[in-house]
Amino acid sequence: MADILRFADNLGPAKIIQVYEPTINLKAVLVIDNIAMGPAIGGIRMAPDVSIEECIRLARTMTLKNAAAGLSHGGGKTVVYADAKMPKPEKERLIRALACALRNFPEYIMGPDMGTDEESMAWIKDEINNRNVTGLPAEAGGIPLDQIGATAWGIRHAIEVALPYCHFPAGFTLAKARVAIQGFGAVGKNAAHFLAEVKAVLVGAADSQGSVYDPDGLDVNKLIRLKEAGKSVVDYTGGEKFDRDAIVNFDCDIWIPAARPDVVNVDNMHLLKAKLVVEGANIPLTEGAEQYLHEKGVLCIPDFIANSGGVICAGMEYRGKIESEALEVIEKLVRNNTRLVLEESRSKKILPREAAMHLAVTRVERAMSFKRWSIY
Ligand code: NAD
Repeated sequence: MADILRFADNLGPAKIIQVYEPTINLKAVLVIDNIAMGPAIGGIRMAPDVSIEECIRLARTMTLKNAAAGLSHGGGKTVVYADAKMPKPEKERLIRALACALRNFPEYIMGPDMGTDEESMAWIKDEINNRNVTGLPAEAGGIPLDQIGATAWGIRHAIEVALPYCHFPAGFTLAKARVAIQGFGAVGKNAAHFLAEVKAVLVGAADSQGSVYDPDGLDVNKLIRLKEAGKSVVDYTGGEKFDRDAIVNFDCDIWIPAARPDVVNVDNMHLLKAKLVVEGANIPLTEGAEQYLHEKGVLCIPDFIANSGGVICAGMEYRGKIESEALEVIEKLVRNNTRLVLEESRSKKILPREAAMHLAVTRVERAMSFKRWSIY
């Protein structure tokens, strides 16, 4: 018990719920971090190797992300301890069982995350038949946030706003900017697509199998087709192939982590060559790595500002909005918040993350001040 409580601070987590069903080997944890601003929205991650600490940190990121985006939602996260690549009937059984276990937690709204998708959300809706799930397929009344690239759409706009704040040569624009993307799933491949639309050049991409680099540019559509056919970026014909972690070292202007937490850390932070890091993944850089890169003049746009497009989309879906309205709101909110945070960081000479924390935590604490109990 004391072991779990060691992660608690003045913002949360409010509740940590273990879900266990031995007959089908369902093992999961739900962390509801802070619901002072409203019911928590947070994705369901299916992965075999996520620690409780990581789940707690991811739930906190959602609290901050919702608050920074000005949504009346708190933060939560679920981890299902399983390999997402298991046969579909087995996966469906686990997700449906999880939905039943969590049906009586109205303060938590489920959504997709790594290892789950729109179809998983549709199974949940079918089980619990209420609005406590977002990221649904269009045919089930949702805005399919991964399919439309809601998060990536925000990332593309965060990058555009951030460029003038970076140490790029005069006249540098997104057209011809060299981009490397770690993780080529819902976030990574859609970011590549939106950036290609504005003529940025994708020079590197990585997935769990390895990485590929071509200084002359990779064919984004070809890579997306490969991934959609269930293959890896290393099956791409052309470019040079490396192991998956080599992407940290690729020569590029903009680096987008869109995979796992803590991928840039004390062991590899000195290898990064980009001048701009836009955090598509949640907590992809350790605190120490962000501090180090800041001192070296590398601008890092924090996760809960840069990748808030997905949760903004979920919030819009929850309110019955349609896709075009959601995309418009994502663009506006992410652009405004990126600018706000970078201005504050520049004028106060603090890290963008510190400026973003100030923005989000002030809102959460104000919401907490109205409550009988503080965080729930
Ligand atoms: P996804 O499962 O669709 O894709 C993940 C990709 O990362 C896959 O290509 C996988 O092969 C690759 N990958 C896994 N481990 C890797 C590693 N060690 N090195 C390189 N690549 C690796 O997941 P997603 O929805 O794209 O989410 C990616 C990240 O973005 C996660 O951290 C998630 O929390 C975060 N995020 C997602 C959304 C969203 O809308 N989907 C929103 C905000 C944040």
